[in-house]
Amino acid sequence: MASNDKRCSRRDFIKTAGATGVGAVLSQHLMQKDASAETAAKTSKNKTVPTRPFGRTGKDVSILSLGGMFDIPANQIILKLALQLGITYWDTAHVYGGGTSEKGIGKYFKKTPADREKIFLVSKSWAKDPEGMTNQLETSLKRMNTDYIDLYFLHGVSSMKEVGSEARKWAEKAKKQGKIKLFGFSTHQNMEDCLMETAKLDWIDGIMLTYNFRLMHQNSMKEAIQACTEAGIGLTAMKTQGGGSVKTDSEKELHMAGRFVQNGYTDKQAKLKAVWEDKKIASICSQMPNSTILMSNISAALDDTGLSAKDMSFLKQYALQTCSGYCAGCASVCEAEINNSVPIGDIMRYLMYQQHYGEHDFAREMQDKIPGDIKKVLASTDFSAAERKCPQKMEIGKLMKKASRILA
Ligand code: SF4
Repeated sequence: MASNDKRCSRRDFIKTAGATGVGAVLSQHLMQKDASAETAAKTSKNKTVPTRPFGRTGKDVSILSLGGMFDIPANQIILKLALQLGITYWDTAHVYGGGTSEKGIGKYFKKTPADREKIFLVSKSWAKDPEGMTNQLETSLKRMNTDYIDLYFLHGVSSMKEVGSEARKWAEKAKKQGKIKLFGFSTHQNMEDCLMETAKLDWIDGIMLTYNFRLMHQNSMKEAIQACTEAGIGLTAMKTQGGGSVKTDSEKELHMAGRFVQNGYTDKQAKLKAVWEDKKIASICSQMPNSTILMSNISAALDDTGLSAKDMSFLKQYALQTCSGYCAGCASVCEAEINNSVPIGDIMRYLMYQQHYGEHDFAREMQDKIPGDIKKVLASTDFSAAERKCPQKMEIGKLMKKASRILA
């Protein structure tokens, strides 16, 4: 991490933040972290991102995975740099960028075919029926100039009804054909239920789930993660920032940023470290669309200093104090209260991509998938019963009105 002389005291930080704005101070520190990461990369050639076993699969994966939701065809250097520094787990999906994400990976493998076998490659099928899955898999293989995908996910599962015996037969056949090595699913909603049910199955190899400093303390999530670990299912965490970077409009958030800057890293790096503290998580999938974010995340991965118990407790407190700003994805809880008439969980996720993560392309794709008749009733539906049940105490009605305005 940054050397002591590059760190500022909390008092200096708050003082400077008061004069210039916390964003400027964080940027300055981020640049310092980047500089130290680049220096580390140059000076310790053998130091690469560490690996962890991926469940019972016998595969080791880098603890940091390259998320593919960026313009990969135009940013081939990111792939090269990531691999050089040990990020050997690459994640994409049939739908990312309307196919450009996979095409970008294919462009890279066409130019450097020897690198294919160094990569643990993941893609996902949005289709859940066997014919659709076959079509999407074949397209993905062609786009990526490869004969196989290491781990193939069903994309965005919110109930295990979507992962039934047909999916099992399909996965077994695709494995026999050598087109996929491992099979599983990604999930953003009703995750604990999906994980608990999966732990009883013997044919799911891996799961990518939303997991962060907000969710990791919840008992139901802890039990679900434990059950999957005991069943040997490999786990990848995504959305590890828990809703985005700290905002600068409250004392709590200033305090949060100040604490971690004082310790020598940014709040974003601290949130990654909190997830890595849980050794049951094999890897973090992170969107790293430019070298600044890539190097900042690599710097955090290369630094083997863990978060202190005090830091972990601080993050937990921060999560509790700001819980009403974060949707935990337990859509079956709120949607049942309005007879499933509005996909609250999907719309919350849309807002998160739009507002916190700045993933405007993906947000637009999600926007297109929300039916017109749902968009029309967002502002007029009474969400008060759903709000009463929401464990995060979210202002669902207000947020749905906001989504209605953005989607209009
Ligand atoms: S709005 Fe509340 S109840 Fe609904 S998914 Fe989000 S956190 Fe769960």
